[in-house]
Amino acid sequence: MVDFIGVQRVQELLAHTGAAAFMEGLAAEIEADYRRWSEFDKSARHATHSPAGVIELMPASDGKLYSFKYVNGHPKNTAEGLLTVTAFGVLADVDSGYPLLLSELTLTTALRTGAMSALAARHMARADSRVMALIGNGAQGEFQSIAFHRMLGIEELRLYDVDPAATAKLDANLAALGLSGLRIVRCNSAAEAVRGADIVTTATADKCNATILTPEMIRPGMHLNAVGGDCPGKTELHGDILQRPDARVIVEFEPQSRIEGEIQRQAADFPVIEFSEVAAGRAPGRTDAAQVTIFDSVGFALEDFSALRFLHRLHLEHRGPHRQIDLVPALPNPKNLFSLLARTAPPVQESDRAATREVMHA
Ligand code: NAD
Repeated sequence: MVDFIGVQRVQELLAHTGAAAFMEGLAAEIEADYRRWSEFDKSARHATHSPAGVIELMPASDGKLYSFKYVNGHPKNTAEGLLTVTAFGVLADVDSGYPLLLSELTLTTALRTGAMSALAARHMARADSRVMALIGNGAQGEFQSIAFHRMLGIEELRLYDVDPAATAKLDANLAALGLSGLRIVRCNSAAEAVRGADIVTTATADKCNATILTPEMIRPGMHLNAVGGDCPGKTELHGDILQRPDARVIVEFEPQSRIEGEIQRQAADFPVIEFSEVAAGRAPGRTDAAQVTIFDSVGFALEDFSALRFLHRLHLEHRGPHRQIDLVPALPNPKNLFSLLARTAPPVQESDRAATREVMHA
């Protein structure tokens, strides 16, 4: 039997731990995994593109555990009442190859993205950062807001979205949480939101090379957390921002980010630093207070590996229904897979004979 964590179980776990503590705990796990970067089998994710979006498979393994995530990105979906991003994933035992866990990862992806964004910002943003602009107030918005309030001490959030209903939803959800000392300011443009911000998070969804931030909006010392540009032909920053002489760009896994990140529009030798170097203390996230730091986030499989392991541990530790599913057969004689059919097979009808033979010869 394989452990199963559905959306309802993640809701239960979050009701117990709280989203902020969950993300802070997960950020610590992600950071610890980035510190042992060389132990991981890493590859750029496999992306299947269509005019409407992308479906991706993201594997990672540390030699003991293996994980993969299935995730989509379809910016047009919300107009049809569907999420832009949905996901699920598997954690498996490398030694036997058996799956240990099948889990929802839609909520969990939002949590891990919030955790990863705030973790990167802890290393890259100025320590005195208190004001964050958040452009793109959709599904990821609350998670980014909660993570930055908790982990960076953000006191003012400046919101902007082309869809005012998205901003109203985010404002209402944050107000209901009553996060202490957090002031929300609704803005009428991206430029207005960015004014006076120490950190700018962009989490917009549009399958194009958008220009959410333009060079004149950027001030020395800002930290940019670019979340929404995450596949070929889908970016958020004007290229000149990355070209600033005082810019420092940090990516997750360079080969994947060259294909999917903001740097896809830069030369192949555009200088970047991998986050693992920063996590391990071999490179600073920022070298001076006036630098413009850019976390060119696309989401890397290691973060989902950490999230699945973290979630599985919480699931086993906390009371509640521990659902399991029969994803893999359990057999007294593993060479007799056919016994599964013999035990439950209905009497063979004449019309079924061809199909039955096919099974027997498979
Ligand atoms: P969503 O569709 O729920 O929200 C996106 C919001 O962006 C919408 O409210 C939309 O109105 C707004 N928007 C679009 N164009 C805009 C513009 N020009 N200016 C201001 N707002 C604009 O999507 P989501 O689930 O919140 O995801 C946001 C983005 O983050 C997506 O592009 C997604 O692919 C990406 N994402 C990245 C990671 C990562 O690890 N880097 C993880 C999850 C999602």
